[in-house]
Amino acid sequence: MKVLIARMNHETNTFSPVPTPLAAFGPLYGEDAYRDNRDGSTAMSAFIDLAEARGAELVTPLSAWANPSGPVHAGAYDAMCRCILEAIPGCEAIFLDLHGAMVAENSDDGEGDLLAKVRAAAPGVPIAVALDLHGNVTQTMVDNADVIFSFKTYPHVDMYETGEHAGRLLWDMIDGRIRPVMAWRILPLMTSTLRSATAAGAMRDAVDHARQAQEAGALGVSILAGFGLADIPRPCLSVVVIADGDRQQAERIAADIAARMWSQREGFVYRSEPLAHSLARAQAMALQADKPILLLDHGDNCNSGGTCDTTGVLEQALALGMDGIMAGLLCDPDAVQALALAGVGATVTLPIGNKRSLAALGMHARPLTVTGTVRAVSDGRYTIAGPTYTGKAMNMGRSAVLDIGAARIVLTSQTHEPWDLGVFESLGLDPRAARYLLLKSRMYCRPVFVPICGGLVECDSPGATTSNLAVYPFRKRVRPMYPLEDAGCDAGAAPACA
Ligand SMILES: [Zn+2]
Repeated sequence: MKVLIARMNHETNTFSPVPTPLAAFGPLYGEDAYRDNRDGSTAMSAFIDLAEARGAELVTPLSAWANPSGPVHAGAYDAMCRCILEAIPGCEAIFLDLHGAMVAENSDDGEGDLLAKVRAAAPGVPIAVALDLHGNVTQTMVDNADVIFSFKTYPHVDMYETGEHAGRLLWDMIDGRIRPVMAWRILPLMTSTLRSATAAGAMRDAVDHARQAQEAGALGVSILAGFGLADIPRPCLSVVVIADGDRQQAERIAADIAARMWSQREGFVYRSEPLAHSLARAQAMALQADKPILLLDHGDNCNSGGTCDTTGVLEQALALGMDGIMAGLLCDPDAVQALALAGVGATVTLPIGNKRSLAALGMHARPLTVTGTVRAVSDGRYTIAGPTYTGKAMNMGRSAVLDIGAARIVLTSQTHEPWDLGVFESLGLDPRAARYLLLKSRMYCRPVFVPICGGLVECDSPGATTSNLAVYPFRKRVRPMYPLEDAGCDAGAAPACA
Protein backbone atom coordinates (compact mmCIF):
# COMPACT_ATOMS: atom_id res chain seq x y z
CA MET A 1 0.00 0.00 0.00
CA LYS A 2 1.36 3.39 -1.02
CA VAL A 3 0.75 6.35 1.33
CA LEU A 4 1.57 10.05 1.01
CA ILE A 5 3.12 11.88 3.98
CA ALA A 6 4.04 15.57 3.77
CA ARG A 7 4.69 18.61 5.94
CA MET A 8 3.90 22.25 5.12
CA ASN A 9 3.95 24.61 8.11
CA HIS A 10 3.58 28.36 8.41
CA GLU A 11 1.85 30.64 10.90
CA THR A 12 1.13 33.74 8.87
CA ASN A 13 0.96 37.17 10.48
CA THR A 14 -0.64 39.05 7.60
CA PHE A 15 0.38 42.34 9.24
CA SER A 16 4.08 41.44 9.35
CA PRO A 17 6.44 43.12 6.86
CA VAL A 18 8.82 40.14 7.09
CA PRO A 19 8.65 38.42 3.65
CA THR A 20 7.98 34.70 3.21
CA PRO A 21 9.56 33.38 -0.01
CA LEU A 22 10.05 29.67 -0.73
CA ALA A 23 13.59 29.85 0.66
CA ALA A 24 12.20 30.77 4.11
CA PHE A 25 10.76 27.25 4.30
CA GLY A 26 14.06 25.51 3.66
CA PRO A 27 11.99 23.01 1.68
CA LEU A 28 13.17 19.41 1.53
CA TYR A 29 11.91 16.99 -1.06
CA GLY A 30 11.54 13.23 -1.40
CA GLU A 31 14.26 11.26 0.36
CA ASP A 32 15.54 14.43 2.11
CA ALA A 33 12.07 15.18 3.49
CA TYR A 34 11.88 11.62 4.78
CA ARG A 35 15.33 11.70 6.41
CA ASP A 36 14.70 15.05 8.08
CA ASN A 37 11.61 13.75 9.88
CA ARG A 38 12.62 10.11 10.46
CA ASP A 39 13.23 9.59 14.20
CA GLY A 40 12.21 13.21 14.81
CA SER A 41 9.59 14.88 16.99
CA THR A 42 7.21 16.28 14.37
CA ALA A 43 3.74 15.05 13.49
CA MET A 44 5.29 13.89 10.21
CA SER A 45 7.76 11.78 12.22
CA ALA A 46 4.83 9.95 13.80
CA PHE A 47 3.12 9.49 10.43
CA ILE A 48 6.32 7.89 9.14
CA ASP A 49 6.64 5.54 12.11
CA LEU A 50 3.04 4.37 11.84
CA ALA A 51 3.27 3.79 8.09
CA GLU A 52 6.56 1.90 8.38
CA ALA A 53 5.12 -0.29 11.14
CA ARG A 54 2.42 -1.22 8.63
CA GLY A 55 4.93 -2.01 5.93
CA ALA A 56 3.48 0.70 3.71
CA GLU A 57 5.37 2.22 0.80
CA LEU A 58 6.08 5.87 1.72
CA VAL A 59 5.88 8.84 -0.62
CA THR A 60 7.28 11.95 1.07
CA PRO A 61 7.20 14.77 -1.47
CA LEU A 62 7.76 17.70 0.90
CA SER A 63 8.87 18.85 4.32
CA ALA A 64 8.70 22.64 4.59
CA TRP A 65 8.62 24.84 7.68
CA ALA A 66 9.10 28.60 8.00
CA ASN A 67 9.25 30.91 10.98
CA PRO A 68 6.09 33.02 11.40
CA SER A 69 6.15 36.03 9.04
CA GLY A 70 4.08 37.86 6.46
CA PRO A 71 1.89 36.29 3.74
CA VAL A 72 3.51 33.39 1.90
CA HIS A 73 4.58 34.43 -1.59
CA ALA A 74 2.13 33.17 -4.21
CA GLY A 75 4.82 31.32 -6.13
CA ALA A 76 6.05 29.59 -2.96
CA TYR A 77 2.54 28.48 -2.01
CA ASP A 78 1.80 27.19 -5.50
CA ALA A 79 5.11 25.33 -5.69
CA MET A 80 4.58 23.56 -2.34
CA CYS A 81 0.97 22.61 -3.17
CA ARG A 82 2.00 21.36 -6.62
CA CYS A 83 4.72 19.25 -5.05
CA ILE A 84 2.16 17.48 -2.83
CA LEU A 85 -0.50 17.18 -5.56
CA GLU A 86 1.88 15.66 -8.09
CA ALA A 87 2.75 12.88 -5.62
CA ILE A 88 -0.87 11.76 -5.13
CA PRO A 89 -1.39 9.30 -8.03
CA GLY A 90 -1.41 5.73 -6.71
CA CYS A 91 -1.54 6.73 -3.01
CA GLU A 92 -4.28 5.10 -0.93
CA ALA A 93 -3.98 7.28 2.19
CA ILE A 94 -2.77 10.83 2.82
CA PHE A 95 -1.20 12.17 6.02
CA LEU A 96 -0.51 15.90 6.20
CA ASP A 97 1.41 17.77 8.89
CA LEU A 98 0.06 21.34 8.52
CA HIS A 99 -0.14 24.41 10.74
CA GLY A 100 -3.66 25.68 10.12
CA ALA A 101 -2.90 29.41 10.04
CA MET A 102 -1.22 29.75 6.66
CA VAL A 103 -2.22 32.71 4.50
CA ALA A 104 -0.64 33.15 1.07
CA GLU A 105 -0.75 36.13 -1.26
CA ASN A 106 -3.15 34.07 -3.36
CA SER A 107 -5.01 32.19 -0.61
CA ASP A 108 -6.66 33.37 2.61
CA ASP A 109 -7.04 29.73 3.63
CA GLY A 110 -3.73 28.07 2.80
CA GLU A 111 -4.59 24.70 4.33
CA GLY A 112 -8.25 24.68 3.21
CA ASP A 113 -7.40 25.43 -0.40
CA LEU A 114 -4.68 22.76 -0.38
CA LEU A 115 -7.00 20.16 1.14
CA ALA A 116 -9.75 20.94 -1.38
CA LYS A 117 -7.27 20.34 -4.21
CA VAL A 118 -5.97 17.17 -2.57
CA ARG A 119 -9.47 15.77 -2.19
CA ALA A 120 -10.34 16.66 -5.76
CA ALA A 121 -7.21 14.88 -6.95
CA ALA A 122 -7.82 11.86 -4.72
CA PRO A 123 -11.57 11.36 -4.32
CA GLY A 124 -12.38 8.72 -1.73
CA VAL A 125 -8.81 8.54 -0.39
CA PRO A 126 -8.70 8.93 3.43
CA ILE A 127 -6.99 12.13 4.61
CA ALA A 128 -5.60 12.83 8.11
CA VAL A 129 -4.38 16.28 9.14
CA ALA A 130 -2.33 17.24 12.19
CA LEU A 131 -2.54 20.94 13.10
CA ASP A 132 -0.87 23.43 15.42
CA LEU A 133 -2.93 24.63 18.39
CA HIS A 134 -2.91 28.09 16.76
CA GLY A 135 -4.60 26.92 13.56
CA ASN A 136 -7.50 28.93 12.15
CA VAL A 137 -9.88 26.15 11.15
CA THR A 138 -12.29 26.75 8.25
CA GLN A 139 -15.28 24.97 6.76
CA THR A 140 -13.18 24.10 3.71
CA MET A 141 -10.62 22.32 5.89
CA VAL A 142 -13.30 20.34 7.73
CA ASP A 143 -15.09 19.46 4.47
CA ASN A 144 -11.94 18.07 2.87
CA ALA A 145 -10.40 15.87 5.56
CA ASP A 146 -11.49 12.75 7.40
CA VAL A 147 -9.47 13.38 10.55
CA ILE A 148 -8.33 16.75 11.96
CA PHE A 149 -6.45 16.72 15.24
CA SER A 150 -4.31 19.43 16.86
CA PHE A 151 -1.68 19.95 19.55
CA LYS A 152 -2.95 20.14 23.12
CA THR A 153 0.05 22.02 24.51
CA TYR A 154 1.44 25.54 24.24
CA PRO A 155 4.39 25.86 24.41
CA HIS A 156 4.09 23.00 21.93
CA VAL A 157 5.65 19.77 23.16
CA ASP A 158 3.20 17.20 21.75
CA MET A 159 3.75 17.41 18.01
CA TYR A 160 4.66 13.73 17.72
CA GLU A 161 1.77 12.59 19.92
CA THR A 162 -0.61 14.68 17.82
CA GLY A 163 0.60 13.06 14.60
CA GLU A 164 0.44 9.65 16.22
CA HIS A 165 -3.17 10.20 17.33
CA ALA A 166 -4.32 11.56 13.96
CA GLY A 167 -2.43 8.84 12.09
CA ARG A 168 -3.79 6.03 14.25
CA LEU A 169 -7.35 7.20 13.65
CA LEU A 170 -6.82 7.16 9.89
CA TRP A 171 -5.31 3.66 9.96
CA ASP A 172 -8.24 2.46 12.09
CA MET A 173 -10.58 3.97 9.50
CA ILE A 174 -8.68 2.23 6.69
CA ASP A 175 -8.96 -1.07 8.58
CA GLY A 176 -12.71 -0.57 8.96
CA ARG A 177 -12.53 -0.45 12.75
CA ILE A 178 -13.96 3.07 13.04
CA ARG A 179 -16.00 5.48 10.94
CA PRO A 180 -14.84 8.99 11.90
CA VAL A 181 -17.36 11.83 11.69
CA MET A 182 -16.34 15.39 12.54
CA ALA A 183 -18.16 18.29 14.16
CA TRP A 184 -16.77 21.79 14.28
CA ARG A 185 -17.68 24.98 16.11
CA ILE A 186 -15.90 28.28 15.69
CA LEU A 187 -16.59 31.11 18.13
CA PRO A 188 -16.69 34.84 17.31
CA LEU A 189 -13.73 35.16 19.67
CA MET A 190 -10.14 36.18 18.98
CA THR A 191 -7.74 34.92 21.59
CA SER A 192 -4.36 36.37 22.51
CA THR A 193 -1.31 34.16 22.12
CA LEU A 194 -0.38 35.02 25.70
CA ARG A 195 -3.71 33.54 26.80
CA SER A 196 -3.38 30.35 24.78
CA ALA A 197 -0.82 28.76 27.10
CA THR A 198 -2.27 25.44 28.20
CA ALA A 199 -0.86 25.47 31.73
CA ALA A 200 -3.40 27.89 33.17
CA GLY A 201 -6.67 29.75 32.77
CA ALA A 202 -9.46 29.34 30.25
CA MET A 203 -7.27 27.51 27.72
CA ARG A 204 -6.28 24.91 30.28
CA ASP A 205 -9.92 24.42 31.25
CA ALA A 206 -10.91 23.90 27.60
CA VAL A 207 -8.09 21.43 26.94
CA ASP A 208 -8.95 19.54 30.15
CA HIS A 209 -12.52 19.17 28.91
CA ALA A 210 -11.31 18.01 25.53
CA ARG A 211 -9.26 15.28 27.22
CA GLN A 212 -12.23 14.26 29.38
CA ALA A 213 -14.43 13.94 26.28
CA GLN A 214 -11.77 11.72 24.69
CA GLU A 215 -11.59 9.58 27.81
CA ALA A 216 -15.39 9.29 27.68
CA GLY A 217 -15.22 7.85 24.19
CA ALA A 218 -14.79 10.62 21.59
CA LEU A 219 -12.10 9.65 19.07
CA GLY A 220 -10.46 13.07 19.13
CA VAL A 221 -11.25 16.50 20.55
CA SER A 222 -9.11 19.48 19.58
CA ILE A 223 -9.15 23.00 20.97
CA LEU A 224 -7.64 25.48 18.53
CA ALA A 225 -6.90 28.91 19.95
CA GLY A 226 -6.58 30.31 16.43
CA PHE A 227 -4.09 32.98 15.43
CA GLY A 228 -5.54 36.46 15.61
CA LEU A 229 -2.85 38.35 13.70
CA ALA A 230 -4.39 37.38 10.37
CA ASP A 231 -6.74 39.44 8.26
CA ILE A 232 -9.09 36.64 7.30
CA PRO A 233 -12.83 36.23 8.01
CA ARG A 234 -12.44 34.18 11.22
CA PRO A 235 -9.04 34.16 12.95
CA CYS A 236 -10.83 32.60 15.91
CA LEU A 237 -11.06 30.01 18.66
CA SER A 238 -12.63 26.71 17.56
CA VAL A 239 -13.23 23.11 18.60
CA VAL A 240 -13.09 20.04 16.36
CA VAL A 241 -14.63 16.78 17.57
CA ILE A 242 -14.30 13.36 15.95
CA ALA A 243 -16.78 10.65 16.96
CA ASP A 244 -17.18 7.08 15.78
CA GLY A 245 -20.09 7.10 13.35
CA ASP A 246 -22.28 9.16 15.67
CA ARG A 247 -22.62 12.65 14.23
CA GLN A 248 -25.06 13.73 16.92
CA GLN A 249 -22.58 12.81 19.63
CA ALA A 250 -19.84 14.78 17.88
CA GLU A 251 -22.13 17.78 17.49
CA ARG A 252 -23.22 17.62 21.12
CA ILE A 253 -19.65 17.52 22.47
CA ALA A 254 -18.57 20.35 20.16
CA ALA A 255 -21.55 22.48 21.20
CA ASP A 256 -20.96 21.80 24.91
CA ILE A 257 -17.28 22.72 24.79
CA ALA A 258 -17.93 25.77 22.60
CA ALA A 259 -20.55 27.00 25.06
CA ARG A 260 -18.17 26.48 27.96
CA MET A 261 -15.37 28.40 26.20
CA TRP A 262 -17.78 31.21 25.31
CA SER A 263 -18.85 31.53 28.95
CA GLN A 264 -15.16 31.98 29.81
CA ARG A 265 -14.36 34.26 26.88
CA GLU A 266 -12.72 36.97 28.96
CA GLY A 267 -10.15 34.39 30.04
CA PHE A 268 -8.87 34.13 26.45
CA VAL A 269 -8.31 37.88 26.16
CA TYR A 270 -5.12 39.71 27.09
CA ARG A 271 -5.61 43.30 28.23
CA SER A 272 -2.36 45.19 27.85
CA GLU A 273 -1.42 47.78 30.43
CA PRO A 274 0.38 50.95 29.31
CA LEU A 275 4.10 50.33 28.82
CA ALA A 276 4.97 53.01 31.40
CA HIS A 277 3.03 51.05 34.05
CA SER A 278 4.85 47.83 33.15
CA LEU A 279 8.25 49.52 33.45
CA ALA A 280 7.30 51.17 36.74
CA ARG A 281 6.38 47.75 38.12
CA ALA A 282 9.70 46.39 36.89
CA GLN A 283 11.58 49.18 38.67
CA ALA A 284 9.77 48.41 41.92
CA MET A 285 10.56 44.70 41.54
CA ALA A 286 14.24 45.41 40.88
CA LEU A 287 14.51 47.15 44.26
CA GLN A 288 13.55 43.88 45.99
CA ALA A 289 15.23 41.31 43.76
CA ASP A 290 18.83 40.12 43.72
CA LYS A 291 18.36 38.60 40.28
CA PRO A 292 17.53 40.24 36.93
CA ILE A 293 13.98 41.35 36.16
CA LEU A 294 12.84 39.90 32.84
CA LEU A 295 11.17 42.46 30.57
CA LEU A 296 9.26 40.47 27.98
CA ASP A 297 8.73 42.56 24.84
CA HIS A 298 5.83 40.61 23.33
CA GLY A 299 4.96 43.41 20.90
CA ASP A 300 7.88 42.36 18.70
CA ASN A 301 8.32 38.59 18.87
CA CYS A 302 9.85 36.93 15.81
CA ASN A 303 7.99 33.73 16.62
CA SER A 304 4.72 35.48 15.77
CA GLY A 305 5.97 37.53 12.81
CA GLY A 306 7.76 40.36 14.62
CA THR A 307 10.53 42.31 12.90
CA CYS A 308 12.75 42.02 15.98
CA ASP A 309 13.95 45.54 15.37
CA THR A 310 11.68 47.86 17.35
CA THR A 311 13.12 49.93 20.19
CA GLY A 312 9.94 51.00 22.02
CA VAL A 313 10.66 49.28 25.33
CA LEU A 314 14.38 50.11 25.30
CA GLU A 315 13.73 53.80 24.62
CA GLN A 316 11.18 54.14 27.42
CA ALA A 317 13.39 52.23 29.84
CA LEU A 318 16.31 54.54 29.07
CA ALA A 319 14.06 57.59 29.41
CA LEU A 320 13.04 56.40 32.87
CA GLY A 321 16.69 56.19 33.89
CA MET A 322 16.77 52.39 34.14
CA ASP A 323 20.25 50.90 33.83
CA GLY A 324 22.03 47.56 34.00
CA ILE A 325 19.93 46.54 30.99
CA MET A 326 20.94 43.62 28.79
CA ALA A 327 18.84 43.74 25.65
CA GLY A 328 18.37 41.33 22.79
CA LEU A 329 17.99 40.35 20.19
CA LEU A 330 17.71 43.43 18.00
CA CYS A 331 17.91 42.49 14.33
CA ASP A 332 19.78 45.18 12.41
CA PRO A 333 22.25 43.79 9.85
CA ASP A 334 23.42 47.28 8.77
CA ALA A 335 24.30 48.22 12.35
CA VAL A 336 26.10 44.91 12.89
CA GLN A 337 28.16 45.52 9.79
CA ALA A 338 29.09 49.02 10.98
CA LEU A 339 30.05 47.73 14.44
CA ALA A 340 32.14 44.89 12.98
CA LEU A 341 33.89 47.33 10.71
CA ALA A 342 34.66 49.68 13.62
CA GLY A 343 36.00 46.73 15.63
CA VAL A 344 35.95 45.70 19.28
CA GLY A 345 36.86 48.60 21.56
CA ALA A 346 35.80 51.31 19.13
CA THR A 347 33.37 54.05 20.13
CA VAL A 348 30.59 54.41 17.60
CA THR A 349 27.55 56.65 17.10
CA LEU A 350 24.91 55.09 14.86
CA PRO A 351 21.18 54.61 14.31
CA ILE A 352 19.81 51.23 15.43
CA GLY A 353 16.46 49.49 14.95
CA ASN A 354 13.06 50.52 13.52
CA LYS A 355 14.32 49.99 9.98
CA ARG A 356 11.48 47.79 8.75
CA SER A 357 8.41 49.86 8.01
CA LEU A 358 5.37 49.25 10.18
CA ALA A 359 3.48 52.09 8.51
CA ALA A 360 0.68 49.69 7.55
CA LEU A 361 0.01 49.37 11.29
CA GLY A 362 0.11 53.13 11.76
CA MET A 363 3.52 52.91 13.46
CA HIS A 364 6.21 55.35 12.38
CA ALA A 365 9.12 54.97 14.82
CA ARG A 366 12.50 56.22 13.65
CA PRO A 367 15.84 54.49 14.27
CA LEU A 368 17.29 55.20 17.71
CA THR A 369 20.63 56.99 17.52
CA VAL A 370 23.01 55.79 20.22
CA THR A 371 26.68 56.16 21.11
CA GLY A 372 28.55 53.26 22.63
CA THR A 373 31.53 50.94 22.68
CA VAL A 374 31.73 47.75 20.63
CA ARG A 375 32.28 44.97 23.17
CA ALA A 376 32.14 41.89 20.95
CA VAL A 377 31.60 40.68 17.40
CA SER A 378 30.80 37.07 16.50
CA ASP A 379 29.55 34.93 13.64
CA GLY A 380 26.34 34.48 15.66
CA ARG A 381 26.65 30.71 16.00
CA TYR A 382 26.05 28.95 19.29
CA THR A 383 24.94 25.55 20.54
CA ILE A 384 21.95 25.27 22.85
CA ALA A 385 22.90 24.05 26.33
CA GLY A 386 19.47 24.58 27.92
CA PRO A 387 16.30 22.52 27.89
CA THR A 388 14.71 23.71 24.62
CA TYR A 389 16.32 21.98 21.58
CA THR A 390 19.29 20.86 23.69
CA GLY A 391 22.46 20.40 21.64
CA LYS A 392 21.07 22.04 18.50
CA ALA A 393 23.40 24.35 16.56
CA MET A 394 21.86 27.81 16.15
CA ASN A 395 22.70 30.79 13.99
CA MET A 396 21.73 34.41 14.71
CA GLY A 397 23.75 35.68 11.77
CA ARG A 398 26.77 37.90 12.36
CA SER A 399 26.22 39.60 15.72
CA ALA A 400 27.70 42.29 17.93
CA VAL A 401 27.42 43.80 21.41
CA LEU A 402 27.11 47.56 21.74
CA ASP A 403 27.58 48.98 25.27
CA ILE A 404 25.79 52.33 25.62
CA GLY A 405 26.36 52.59 29.38
CA ALA A 406 22.85 51.98 30.71
CA ALA A 407 22.40 49.04 28.34
CA ARG A 408 24.38 46.38 26.57
CA ILE A 409 22.55 45.57 23.36
CA VAL A 410 22.98 42.39 21.32
CA LEU A 411 22.46 43.18 17.64
CA THR A 412 22.03 40.35 15.14
CA SER A 413 21.80 39.98 11.37
CA GLN A 414 18.84 37.60 11.47
CA THR A 415 15.66 37.54 13.52
CA HIS A 416 16.11 34.95 16.24
CA GLU A 417 14.09 33.81 19.25
CA PRO A 418 16.12 33.89 22.49
CA TRP A 419 16.00 30.11 22.88
CA ASP A 420 18.95 29.85 25.23
CA LEU A 421 21.38 31.75 27.45
CA GLY A 422 23.78 31.13 24.55
CA VAL A 423 22.37 34.15 22.71
CA PHE A 424 24.24 36.25 25.30
CA GLU A 425 26.99 33.90 26.46
CA SER A 426 28.26 33.31 22.92
CA LEU A 427 29.10 37.03 22.88
CA GLY A 428 30.79 37.05 26.27
CA LEU A 429 27.83 38.40 28.24
CA ASP A 430 26.49 36.85 31.44
CA PRO A 431 22.70 37.41 31.52
CA ARG A 432 22.66 36.61 35.25
CA ALA A 433 24.64 39.80 35.87
CA ALA A 434 22.01 42.11 34.36
CA ARG A 435 19.60 44.18 36.42
CA TYR A 436 17.03 44.02 33.61
CA LEU A 437 16.94 41.43 30.83
CA LEU A 438 14.99 42.83 27.91
CA LEU A 439 13.97 40.01 25.55
CA LYS A 440 11.86 40.06 22.42
CA SER A 441 9.87 36.96 23.16
CA ARG A 442 6.50 35.70 24.27
CA MET A 443 6.76 32.12 25.50
CA TYR A 444 9.86 30.31 24.31
CA CYS A 445 12.46 32.21 26.34
CA ARG A 446 10.67 31.33 29.56
CA PRO A 447 11.95 27.81 30.33
CA VAL A 448 15.52 29.14 30.21
CA PHE A 449 15.36 32.73 31.39
CA VAL A 450 12.66 32.64 34.08
CA PRO A 451 14.78 30.42 36.39
CA ILE A 452 17.65 32.94 36.40
CA CYS A 453 15.36 35.94 36.97
CA GLY A 454 13.85 37.49 40.08
CA GLY A 455 10.65 38.57 38.33
CA LEU A 456 8.92 38.84 34.99
CA VAL A 457 7.04 41.81 33.52
CA GLU A 458 5.14 41.47 30.24
CA CYS A 459 5.72 44.65 28.23
CA ASP A 460 3.44 45.43 25.30
CA SER A 461 5.02 47.75 22.77
CA PRO A 462 4.30 49.06 19.29
CA GLY A 463 5.28 46.25 16.90
CA ALA A 464 3.94 43.69 14.47
CA THR A 465 2.93 41.34 17.29
CA THR A 466 1.43 43.72 19.84
CA SER A 467 -1.21 42.03 22.00
CA ASN A 468 -3.44 45.08 21.56
CA LEU A 469 -5.74 43.70 18.86
CA ALA A 470 -7.37 47.10 18.36
CA VAL A 471 -4.21 48.28 16.58
CA TYR A 472 -4.53 45.94 13.60
CA PRO A 473 -6.36 47.23 10.50
CA PHE A 474 -8.63 44.20 9.92
CA ARG A 475 -10.61 44.45 6.70
CA LYS A 476 -11.84 40.92 6.12
CA ARG A 477 -12.87 39.70 9.55
CA VAL A 478 -16.53 39.20 10.35
CA ARG A 479 -18.15 41.58 12.82
CA PRO A 480 -19.02 41.59 15.64
CA MET A 481 -16.10 39.69 17.15
CA TYR A 482 -15.13 39.58 20.82
CA PRO A 483 -13.23 41.39 22.33
CA LEU A 484 -13.09 44.05 19.61
CA GLU A 485 -16.85 44.34 19.67
CA ASP A 486 -18.72 43.23 22.75
CA ALA A 487 -22.31 44.00 21.92
CA GLY A 488 -24.01 41.67 19.48
CA CYS A 489 -21.58 38.78 19.78
CA ASP A 490 -23.48 35.53 19.99
CA ALA A 491 -21.72 32.20 20.19
CA GLY A 492 -24.94 30.48 19.15
CA ALA A 493 -24.67 32.19 15.78
CA ALA A 494 -21.27 30.66 15.14
CA PRO A 495 -21.20 28.41 12.09
CA ALA A 496 -21.31 24.70 12.77
CA CYS A 497 -20.03 21.87 10.67
CA ALA A 498 -22.43 20.99 7.84
ZN1 LIG B 1 1.43 27.45 17.68
